[in-house]
Amino acid sequence: MLDDDWAYPVRVSDLKQWAYCSRVFYYQTCLPDVRPTTYKMYAGREAGQSEIGREERRSLRAYGIVAGEREFDVPVRSARLGLRGEVDMVITVAGTGEVIPVDYKLTRIAGEPFQLQIAVYGMMLEEMRGVAVTRGFLYEIPLRRAEEIKIEKRLRAKALRAVEEMRRIVEREEMPMPVKNRHKCMACEFRRFCNDVV
Ligand code: SF4
Repeated sequence: MLDDDWAYPVRVSDLKQWAYCSRVFYYQTCLPDVRPTTYKMYAGREAGQSEIGREERRSLRAYGIVAGEREFDVPVRSARLGLRGEVDMVITVAGTGEVIPVDYKLTRIAGEPFQLQIAVYGMMLEEMRGVAVTRGFLYEIPLRRAEEIKIEKRLRAKALRAVEEMRRIVEREEMPMPVKNRHKCMACEFRRFCNDVV
């Protein structure tokens, strides 16, 4: 780990892996050398970058916003939550000053992990900028569609529980139990390290 990683041990983007199987998160974070950069990961980064180029030329209509300022690849940190990350885009709405995180995604399947990620970005922006963040957007690159996510109490609580558990795994370097749904193991790149799954 780098120095910065010790102060902020959990990356927001790891929420998706953690939600899939907490052991995948463990392998990636506590034993990072076991995982090469896969084509899928590389393609995801490339798609995000080219989407920024398009987004800069687009209006904010997809988000139902008339005017606002856009920032891209915004670094976020929270010592309180032990989290670090980078928001694909942050919109500051003209007139109201509302701050809205936007996360691009390659998949058409939204799912709760993506919502948790938006909630965490929202809470980190609140902490860093001293504003209330009540919503965010998931932008589906294949469909060019923005889905609004309300950052409400239930989602916040769930996101905080997830982050707490991720921090515990990192701090104790303790391998979690295998995933309950063993179908997931069939296609898992870490399968050879999990001797206790079929
Ligand atoms: S093989 Fe199964 S338990 Fe092991 S990391 Fe993969 S999904 Fe998780």
